[in-house]
Amino acid sequence: MDSKWTPGLISSPSASSNTALRILAGCCCVVLCCFWAKVLQTFGVKHKSKHTFAVSDSTEIVKALVGLKDVRVLKYVRNGPDAELVIEQIIDEVYCPECGQLARVKQRPVVRYIDMPVYGTPMRLAWRKHRMCCVDPDCPKQSWVLTDHRISAKQCLLTTRAAKWATSQVGQGRTVSEVAAELACDWHTVNDAVTYYGQALLAADRKRLSKTTAIGLDETSFVKLARYHKTFATTVADVANHQIIDILPTRNFVDVAAFINAQCESWKQRIEYGALDMSNTYAAVYTVMLPEVIQVVDSFHVVRLANQVLDQVRRRVQRQQTGHRGRKDDPLYKIRRLLVTGEERLDDAAAARLSSLLALGDPDAEVGIAHRVKERIRDFYRETSPAIARTILTDVHAHCMQPSMPPEIIKLGRTIGKWFDKICNYHLARISNGPTEALNNLIKRIKRIGYGFTNFNNYRIRALLYAGKPNWRILNSITIQ
Ligand SMILES: [Zn+2]
Repeated sequence: MDSKWTPGLISSPSASSNTALRILAGCCCVVLCCFWAKVLQTFGVKHKSKHTFAVSDSTEIVKALVGLKDVRVLKYVRNGPDAELVIEQIIDEVYCPECGQLARVKQRPVVRYIDMPVYGTPMRLAWRKHRMCCVDPDCPKQSWVLTDHRISAKQCLLTTRAAKWATSQVGQGRTVSEVAAELACDWHTVNDAVTYYGQALLAADRKRLSKTTAIGLDETSFVKLARYHKTFATTVADVANHQIIDILPTRNFVDVAAFINAQCESWKQRIEYGALDMSNTYAAVYTVMLPEVIQVVDSFHVVRLANQVLDQVRRRVQRQQTGHRGRKDDPLYKIRRLLVTGEERLDDAAAARLSSLLALGDPDAEVGIAHRVKERIRDFYRETSPAIARTILTDVHAHCMQPSMPPEIIKLGRTIGKWFDKICNYHLARISNGPTEALNNLIKRIKRIGYGFTNFNNYRIRALLYAGKPNWRILNSITIQ
């Protein structure tokens, strides 16, 4: 009996507690639903009625199409191809900001702005403003104009929404002149707005800079002013996240160091690695400004240097053997591309062609040596164990420094010796300025789109918007008074 009833006795209170739990859960659900409805209502999310609606009144339709808050549409003017919408603000009583007395309307000046195109037609917004004045003739505040940053910011000839749209368009890689043509306005008008809002966006997007643990310094030529006169810019890149932090109009130690110095302490402390090309200036910047940072010479530049040396040797041997520069039937000229192609990417036919033509055009095997050195340096980067990689580089260095080596190779050996530890640090950090170089390609694209730049500020804003990966969502919330 007992054994038969025991389960029942145990199960019955648990069943009742289940029911109680269910009721409790139901109550909780109801309470939660009410709570969330309230929360959503407070934060303006329960706007099914507000965001989903239909209007039939023509004034309301116009209001919805124009989409500006607290604005009355006065008229639509069409003058040939130019379309214009005349608006005014809906205002309450205005008081003098100086003495607090009721102000009166003094004048209604009309200011024209460039707005977004409507149904493919460029549109102007003629804003009938209110110039107010104080009723007290002795008041120092004589007159002032009412403004609204939601319609247009001060000193900007574009409406706020058109300026933000133009900024995002240019940030996606369109030219200013294209955007200006679409808005049917002058290049300078769009450029000023893009600079204005672009700068505000970059200044507001602080997160863009705060998360990096590895930076890279790299120089780019900014503009060729004359045949032998180039000005250089320094790209400061976030190598860990593959984005540009900033572009400086210089490659001088003092200026680059000043930029690092101007950053906040937490930013400097977070940085563990610094990538650089083999430049004494940038190495000095790291050593002086960020002494804790591990400097890494990036792989891209080392391999590029090895390829350049290989090319120099090939051209010298070519001249020595034939007495002239490469021609299409010369063996060394024929393999100029095969030489700088990675060994593993050559098929059997190409490898055979390479070795046979090398034997033909390179009797002292100087080009062959340079080719081997280049491939050994590439092996160094492929190696996964830091210790073995270091041995490979030591071998390469010792090999290059032998007195019997061609002079170009000895010079390469000296460079490797000078930067030895910083080259080896690659296996510690596994970072490379390569992404920065990719960013430089993006910047070059910006330069191509703009057919070169002479104004550094335009160049900087354009490049940062395009390759700096700013958080575009912030743009909507930016207000410029
Ligand atoms: Zn007053």
